[in-house]
Amino acid sequence: MSLSFKFGTVGSPSGTPKKPGGSVGAIEFSKSIGLDTLELGWVQSVRVTEATCALIKAASEAQSVALSVHAPYFINLNATAEEWPKSRKRLMDAAHYGYLAGATDIIFHPGSYFGNDPAEVLKVAIPRLKGCVDELKKNGDMVTIRPETMGKSAMLGSIEDALAMSAAMDMVQPCIDFAHMHARPGDGSMNTYEEWSKLLTNYKKVLGAKALKKLTHPSLRH
Ligand SMILES: [Zn+2]
Repeated sequence: MSLSFKFGTVGSPSGTPKKPGGSVGAIEFSKSIGLDTLELGWVQSVRVTEATCALIKAASEAQSVALSVHAPYFINLNATAEEWPKSRKRLMDAAHYGYLAGATDIIFHPGSYFGNDPAEVLKVAIPRLKGCVDELKKNGDMVTIRPETMGKSAMLGSIEDALAMSAAMDMVQPCIDFAHMHARPGDGSMNTYEEWSKLLTNYKKVLGAKALKKLTHPSLRH
């Protein structure tokens, strides 16, 4: 069995020269220092034109640097009915422009429980996410949407949440943040080979061996 890992940063590596700069410069610089992936850090907002996306995609292909997008922090699948359209647009913009820029995976923070029972929150979150995915599919924005596992137990984003969202629809797979997984229980667990083997065995059981072959971890800076 061959294993292949891709390493990269979120946002430009710190040594990226000023020119050409931007995501294109970051891709070229990443390649030059032996990195083979880059996460576009659209964490405050998605402010990119289609023309820029085309340039990013061309650079990614020319340099063989794979791309993902970290969507804005201000997304919440459990937002109030009033807030939800804005949250939704942020996720949809990240996915649409990410796809145009050649990104294959869109990582996002799924939101907060607001003190409610996770099972109840998923009843709201899953149909909303499904609505997003259906629209992306219709538009031809073929990306993998990845709810990130979150480090705080008040946040929507346990591994169980991420697996439930992924099992409920196509185009969604977890983004496993190993550090967050360790932080979340707050008792020092999720730090051994046995604990991780158990988690990954369950992951395979729920989503299949194919999903296990394409795990995504958010890069180290975010
Ligand atoms: Zn993140």
